[in-house]
Amino acid sequence: MDKLNALRRAAENFGCEVLENESMAKHTSFKIGGPADLFITAGSGQALGVLLDFCRNNEIQYTVLGNGSNVLVSDDGIRGAVIVPGGELAEIRGLGEGKIKCGAGAKLISVCRFALESELSGLEFAYGIPGSVGGAVFMNAGAYGGEIKDVIVSAAFIDKDGKAVTLPAEELDLSYRHSIFSTNGGIITEAVFSLQKAEKAGIKAKMDELMGRRRDKQPLEYPSAGSVFKRPEGAFAGTLIEQCGLKGYNIGGAMVSQKHAGFIVNAGGATANDVLRLVEHIQKTVFEQTGYSLECEIRKIGG
Ligand SMILES: Cc1cc2nc3c(=O)[nH]c(=O)nc-3n(C[C@H](O)[C@H](O)[C@H](O)COP(=O)(O)OP(=O)(O)OC[C@H]3O[C@@H](n4cnc5c(N)ncnc54)[C@H](O)[C@@H]3O)c2cc1C
Repeated sequence: MDKLNALRRAAENFGCEVLENESMAKHTSFKIGGPADLFITAGSGQALGVLLDFCRNNEIQYTVLGNGSNVLVSDDGIRGAVIVPGGELAEIRGLGEGKIKCGAGAKLISVCRFALESELSGLEFAYGIPGSVGGAVFMNAGAYGGEIKDVIVSAAFIDKDGKAVTLPAEELDLSYRHSIFSTNGGIITEAVFSLQKAEKAGIKAKMDELMGRRRDKQPLEYPSAGSVFKRPEGAFAGTLIEQCGLKGYNIGGAMVSQKHAGFIVNAGGATANDVLRLVEHIQKTVFEQTGYSLECEIRKIGG
């Protein structure tokens, strides 16, 4: 506890907002998750670097999150510190020649709007993905035929030894819902995207069309973490789950969406344990009835 108090003081000295015993249900799109010992918003790259060093040197567990839209946080919460990039780390800047530099904490939706205002095309696919730039790079987020891999030039991060590193896109090991960051322990601070000049009206029309498709197909009226499973080769997870008659199937407050079987929704008071049991039930049923193994896309955190 002394170490956590010292971390809290160090964070406050840097002007970071620090919350104690903060319910993670307030910070996840699933609206699920027990308390984090400390929930810190790091307002600059320097603050983030110092906090990460402090945690490493004092053996304090840390978890860096973005918008919490692809995670299932344990009902027991998260020990140590949850650190979220904010302030300067959420800024978006045009660099000229179609390039945009974004802090890891910037919301993808804001980046898409910035691109629209700058008459730059290429990020329309991401409009409606409710994540941050850091989370989107980590996950190589994608939709409607586009993915982060198509537009990213480079990512800056703090490596596991505390060193600031920038890698070009080719070295980020980006593939379907995967990046180097799931194995290298790096904390993303910034990404540069390269887009093409285009007419604003066309960009806006594409963004509106894709947002409309999301509203039609996805259960946006319920808390969720988006698609729970990765797309297995040769099939769609949602279609397999629907074929197995699991639409509407529930365990506690966790329910397979009636609207899109690839989503588990929090239909009211769901716990992480409800979701985990439902995930297992879906995996078992789909495997027995179709032979497909479904791998989770959402990341389980804490506990
Ligand atoms: C309604 C809905 C629709 C969705 N639609 C899509 C979609 O179309 N396509 C798609 O790909 N996803 C979709 N998602 C999932 C999710 O929005 C994306 O994966 C998003 O990119 C996650 O970003 P985040 O900031 O919320 O990440 P988080 O959920 O906060 O984190 C995800 C992972 O990234 C890590 N991480 C976050 N920030 C950093 C950082 N700065 N440095 C290192 N690691 C970091 C976390 O530790 C965690 O392991 C959807 C989710 C919802 C709820």
